[in-house]
Amino acid sequence: MKKVIAVFLYFFLIGNSHAAVWVKLLDNNNAKITLDKQSILQKDNLKRAWVKVEYKTPQKNPETVDKQYNIAKLLWFFDCAAQKSATSQVFQYLNSELVYSVGIDVKNAEFIEPVPETDVDIAMRYVCKPDKPIAPATPKTTAVKPLAEKSALEKPKGETNKPEAVPVKTEEKVNVDEKPESTAVKLPATKPIPTKASHGKKEEHKPHWTYEGKEGPESWGKLSPEFATCDVGRNQSPINIEETMHATLKPLKAIQKFAAKDIFNNGHTVQINFKEGNMLALDNAAFQMKQVHFHSPSENTIRGKSFPLEAHFVHADAKGNLTVIGVMYTEGKANTALAKLWEQLPNEISEPIELKNRVIPSDLIPENRSYYRFSGSLTTPPCSEGVRWLLMKNPLTVSKEQIEAFKHAVHHNNNRPVQALNGRVIVE
Ligand SMILES: [Zn+2]
Repeated sequence: MKKVIAVFLYFFLIGNSHAAVWVKLLDNNNAKITLDKQSILQKDNLKRAWVKVEYKTPQKNPETVDKQYNIAKLLWFFDCAAQKSATSQVFQYLNSELVYSVGIDVKNAEFIEPVPETDVDIAMRYVCKPDKPIAPATPKTTAVKPLAEKSALEKPKGETNKPEAVPVKTEEKVNVDEKPESTAVKLPATKPIPTKASHGKKEEHKPHWTYEGKEGPESWGKLSPEFATCDVGRNQSPINIEETMHATLKPLKAIQKFAAKDIFNNGHTVQINFKEGNMLALDNAAFQMKQVHFHSPSENTIRGKSFPLEAHFVHADAKGNLTVIGVMYTEGKANTALAKLWEQLPNEISEPIELKNRVIPSDLIPENRSYYRFSGSLTTPPCSEGVRWLLMKNPLTVSKEQIEAFKHAVHHNNNRPVQALNGRVIVE
């Protein structure tokens, strides 16, 4: 009980010791989210802020099923360097009546990487913006409060409703510096993204790994210190898509008309590199499509269902952040684009072989672009995290013979088992 009182005192002190300046972060069909700019404080390596979520319809809290709430006030802490966040205090109100509260000392709170585009992610981008002025310890009370909400035109980067500029062709037009750092995978600068980040060409000095036996997925994290994330990572891929959160995901903006260049077998998969120019606009950044490779059976699963083939279109922005578009294939009619590629399918480890048939990425991606979005990792060592995953909901078809041909080329299954979600949210 004492703790609860202390929490209340803390809240009221925080709430009333300064004039709150609520900045609107998001306002959609589900909720309005505002952040008290004056509550942003830095303590050691953490920043914290009070956030208010006003729901358009009453919400249920699983711990107080008999009570609903429509306003939540939350004290969030952000580790900007690690791009992780934790909830320290929660107050839930039904209109103005407090119906539930819970608090945890930030020292004991679990910091996790927020799912892109969720409330926490948007708040983190706002609070962690480098130029964000920190409220002085004793902010002056001003008369701006009544106006603050209305005039809160200030929006965090990456949340704006203005259409993202889709780069027409040349990457010079894309201001990649605009990109929020949110889920960046920092790959060592010495590693070229297209080959190493995902199943690249074989490198002799790399520890050997496989999909079965002693060097199989269960052991990847122990094969080398640089593979440790495969073991200790908390946001690993692939995953099973089960529970999802509905959100207003933006339609994909992509250019997928530049042809595949070459095909090669790296012993783990068959990879196809593309000519430059294919782009994906996401989170105010431009991601260039580098390559597509395949897994059989699928790595991700949808409500427990595995597919015979999954394609991964690997994209990288100028800073080396990765986005993977996943496409599932079900067994059915032969896939005409794959047929053109499979004509040159290398059955053994090979150098890149120039493709003679023209295949463009959109031939291999379903027309219906609805997708699941989540945060994950590379599915092969070093299992680096911070990868944005967009998994297409609609599968394409592939014939039994085409699946067999791929399996024959790779000689074994090449799917990493499904990994724990660890609190991650899948948005659709
Ligand atoms: Zn893959």
